[in-house]
Amino acid sequence: MPSGDASGKTLSFEDARHTVEEHASHLRPRGKELLELLDAVGLVLAEPVFADRNLPPFPRATRDGYAVRTADLAHLPATLQVVGEIKAGANTSIELESGQAAAIMTGAPAPPGADSVVMVEYTSRTGDRVEIMKAVAAGDNIVPTGSEARRGERLLSPGTRLDHAAIAVASSVGRSHLLVYSKPRVAVLATGDEVVDIDVPPAPYQIRNSNSYSLAAQIQAAGGEPILLPIAPDEPERLRELVADGLEADLLLLTGGVSMGKYDLVEQVLAEFQTEFFFTGAQIQPGRPIVFGRVAPASSPAEPKYFFGLPGNPVSTMVTFELFARPVLEALAGLPPRRLVFLHAKLKSEIKTKPGLKRFLPALLSGEFEQAEVELIRWQGSGDIAATARANCYLVIPADREQIAAGEWVPILIR
Ligand code: AMP
Ligand code: MG
Repeated sequence: MPSGDASGKTLSFEDARHTVEEHASHLRPRGKELLELLDAVGLVLAEPVFADRNLPPFPRATRDGYAVRTADLAHLPATLQVVGEIKAGANTSIELESGQAAAIMTGAPAPPGADSVVMVEYTSRTGDRVEIMKAVAAGDNIVPTGSEARRGERLLSPGTRLDHAAIAVASSVGRSHLLVYSKPRVAVLATGDEVVDIDVPPAPYQIRNSNSYSLAAQIQAAGGEPILLPIAPDEPERLRELVADGLEADLLLLTGGVSMGKYDLVEQVLAEFQTEFFFTGAQIQPGRPIVFGRVAPASSPAEPKYFFGLPGNPVSTMVTFELFARPVLEALAGLPPRRLVFLHAKLKSEIKTKPGLKRFLPALLSGEFEQAEVELIRWQGSGDIAATARANCYLVIPADREQIAAGEWVPILIR
């Protein structure tokens, strides 16, 4: 019983992206698990992480030099009596009195009585005397106890991607295990009578399945767990079975079979399920026939499953994953919604193009430091995997541009 309407809903790139973001904003991860700290790298935190003590736990010297009482330095140079040395990790009982200083190392606790540290470069030591040549203000080169965080303060929130900085925070408060969101399972279903598995010798008219593997790599990089289904032929019965299998996962990505050809059956087969189509095309190149929708499985109608029908041309598959599937995957992985932003680089050589579609073309970002330059890679169109593998970004050409001059700032999507 066909219930979906797959007939023409082509959106602008921006509207299509916003449609996906709106749906993604209502999605939640499937579950949580407790992992060892380093197994959690790259995953998304599912609990808050709190400071177990004040940070820093003592007034921390940030320079090698002398801990002093600033009031003793009213007249310079000032000569102070050195009453001891405090190194990082040492438990000292020194208390500074007026006229006294203590040699101190970076990372050591400033002693009671001291209110600043004078860098060693501005001092001259003779025996137990030190001459201070330069004024300091109270508080200089000491980070006060608890000024970075108070004991009990929340340092990381659920929804934080555990990158190296977050891992540093977790380690600093003694968390050897973290509760993270389970990775979403993403089913990948390649379609096409010409498509064969990579371990089968292809006949001259056959094409090896690269889309399932490029998608698996993108899914892993985005924090998901790919599940590769067998290749579906351009034949409704088997396609239907495999789509049903794919809908068991948290997200289903199909490739191929979404163009206007006689054997492009993906929309037709999907429409037989309890399906809503949010769009069946976007004004972009590559990737124009992209399909986004949702199926309410008969077994659990309250838990609809999202799917994307990605165009089969390999570069279209890669680009449409980044532009549209990634936000849904990230939401299922537990990340809060975020807008897509393009960085900018200077165009190396002029581009002429036809207006009408927003283009995401394989490009090479080069240069150094503040001088980022970008140029298009020569390619044979959206089937050209070899050229795309030589690129390191996509150059974004707005739909209304016919010509872009060398030296203009252009948006890019880093790969
Ligand atoms: P389609 O979107 O099914 O019309 O396919 C567009 C182009 O992409 C055709 O040249 C297909 O042979 C190619 N293609 C489709 N699926 C794959 C795949 N899984 N791996 C590599 N190329 C594919
Ligand atoms: Mg096909």
